[in-house]
Amino acid sequence: MGIIRKCAVATALVAGFLGPSFAVPAAADPPPINVLTTITTFVSLAQAVGGNRVRVTSLVPVGASPEDYQPTPPDIGRLHAADVLFENGLGLEAWLARTIDNAKNPKLRITVLSDGLPHIDSNPHLWMDPEFARTYVRKMRDTLIAQDPADRVLFERNAAAEDAKLVTLERDIRSRIATIPVPSRAMIVFHNAWLYYNNRFGIKTVGVIELSPGQEPNPKYISDLINLARANHVKAVFSEPEYSPKLVQALAESAGIKTVQDLYDDSIGSNPLVHDYESMLRYDTETIVKALGGAA
Ligand SMILES: [Zn+2]
Repeated sequence: MGIIRKCAVATALVAGFLGPSFAVPAAADPPPINVLTTITTFVSLAQAVGGNRVRVTSLVPVGASPEDYQPTPPDIGRLHAADVLFENGLGLEAWLARTIDNAKNPKLRITVLSDGLPHIDSNPHLWMDPEFARTYVRKMRDTLIAQDPADRVLFERNAAAEDAKLVTLERDIRSRIATIPVPSRAMIVFHNAWLYYNNRFGIKTVGVIELSPGQEPNPKYISDLINLARANHVKAVFSEPEYSPKLVQALAESAGIKTVQDLYDDSIGSNPLVHDYESMLRYDTETIVKALGGAA
């Protein structure tokens, strides 16, 4: 008892002593811009652009699917308190509009990152192509400048640095995919997050198991996919940790191919190797290269 009390007193003394020297921000520092993204995949991009002028969090937690996310009462509170919201659009966040209405925050500055980009059949997963991610970064930059014009130079410099990283990332992915034998550059995926990535890097999307969120494919559709897998010599069927493995495994077994169930796209992972946008795409690329017989 005595020891605990002494420790508490000592801690209070230390805190009291050190507090004023480091905990209190300089009077000139405005509070950070409160930025919300819908998915965890966008957090690192927004953080890179905003630097120490932003505090970025995502509504959908790590490991959850944005397509069938159920917003919570705290999400409404977070939208109410936020300054800026980055959403993807194209139907990825069908639950969002009503949640924004409920949040009653007329000052919330909303940017729809996919707006104006060339999509295919309203597939929302544009960010999986680093070239489109560069546009997302530019839109984040312009949004933050509009929110906080005084820090324009900082946002421009940060966005340029992030853009350079994305250019390098795209080049690196291209050279890794180039090691996969051309006939093996084909994927069957659980949900079609890979359309733009595959188009950018020359991989054929042979089939998609789940055509729309939560919709179970019928047996005829699955048997057609199995035939497609065989006809195209597809080596693997790919999925994400947030989806149930049953359908993927059943299809792979019937087609005699392997399953890969740790691709990340709509969410970064609890895996420490996949902690931001760039590490996610590098991890995914290595996973794909390995599964499709590319160079180690
Ligand atoms: Zn998705």
